[in-house]
Amino acid sequence: MTDAVSRQLFERAQQVVPGGVNSPVRAFRAVGGTPRFIASAHGPYLVDADGNELVDLVCSWGPMILGHAHPEVIAAVRDAAGRGTSYGAPTQAEVELAEAIVERTPVEQVRLVNSGTEATMSVLRLARAATGRDLVVKFAGCYHGHVDALLASAGSGVATLSDAAALATPASPGVPAATTAQTLVLPYNDRAAVTAAFAEHGERIACLVTEAAPGNMGVIEPGVEDGEHFNAFLARTCREHGALFVSDEVMTGFRVSRQGQYGRDGVEPDLMTFGKVMGGGFPAAAFGGRAELMQLLSPVGSVYQAGTLSGNPVASAAGATTLRLLDDDVYTRLDRSADVLRSAVAEVFTEVGLPHVVQSAGSMFSVFFTPADVDRVPDYATAQRQDTAAHAAFFHAMLDAGVYLPPSAYEAWFLSTAHDDVALSRIVEALPAAARSAAAVTTA
Ligand code: PLP
Repeated sequence: MTDAVSRQLFERAQQVVPGGVNSPVRAFRAVGGTPRFIASAHGPYLVDADGNELVDLVCSWGPMILGHAHPEVIAAVRDAAGRGTSYGAPTQAEVELAEAIVERTPVEQVRLVNSGTEATMSVLRLARAATGRDLVVKFAGCYHGHVDALLASAGSGVATLSDAAALATPASPGVPAATTAQTLVLPYNDRAAVTAAFAEHGERIACLVTEAAPGNMGVIEPGVEDGEHFNAFLARTCREHGALFVSDEVMTGFRVSRQGQYGRDGVEPDLMTFGKVMGGGFPAAAFGGRAELMQLLSPVGSVYQAGTLSGNPVASAAGATTLRLLDDDVYTRLDRSADVLRSAVAEVFTEVGLPHVVQSAGSMFSVFFTPADVDRVPDYATAQRQDTAAHAAFFHAMLDAGVYLPPSAYEAWFLSTAHDDVALSRIVEALPAAARSAAAVTTA
């Protein structure tokens, strides 16, 4: 399989774009080699600039749940674009998209924005304004976009219980320490750490923000203890301390069920964020909550939030059409495809003696290249025990066989309704040789 044109484009790109990409993971740094430049896509396939057809398990990092270039979505986009692409004034399309979100989720009102980052950034401002408090709690390994306050990793002592309330350190140069000093980072699934942090700082905590089911350190399953779901525990703890519970459903929203993770655990957050699927492949995202909270936003209230392209008519048409096509049947099919792949991976990895853990939230799942003594990955620290060299070998062998996986060991694999038996067979057939490549380099 040649990648000569991708190489040329990558050379050119690196002259004019930092690292040759507009979002870091696309650069293949974690797996090495040259990123594929994509020329087109249809159904479950990407076609790269060299004309190679690849089965796509990234799906634009989640949004393309109906597959690429779905005829009804494209028709809606063409129709909307033909009437003009942005007006800077309200439209029927954005009302329809907002109604579709409100109908599926516990939020009463939403504000549309352009990216998940914007949604979480705005939700923090709203939570702080609503509570008159400054501190924000997040979990290590959860990603909420490149918002300063949430681009924080745990300081060395934060993961221990006694230091559970230690303040976070910035995860990137340029993030002011003063900003992340308002952020507490805790280990995911660790109820004792959450309880301790709230016991010490509860009166100063504006909100706790969590991925509804984490997918950005690989897929981590929220635990259930004494019949209580982790999200229910978080909601209860926030309530007890007058803090707001914020569920980030940018990744899980409308993907893991018609109602997102909310449809699976039934826990009602105070505020929610959405993105990816609801934009139908366009830049669109949203945040929402009870009307009483959302009414604090300008122009009704005084919490400022705005956007030149927010509620863009083309993006809204793509998003509303996508949501309309997502009936319960879609999720049954996605779950079935995910089952086929999960079982195939587990079987092949076991056959070649490659230690692994497969975890899922609905059809969203990931394969951890963890050592043999790990049988569950509950948090980021465990996810970090992965053999990234084995993952890189597996990734490249799959790519050579025409399967495009996430180029990082810390990402979910995404499926679409367009992944039919033919596409699934191509993936399954590529697995044994790729697993053997990984087994050959693993140190486990
Ligand atoms: N929140 C979650 C859970 C995400 O997965 C992401 C992106 O992957 C974001 C927020 C940020 O969204 P965006 O990349 O659209 O800014």
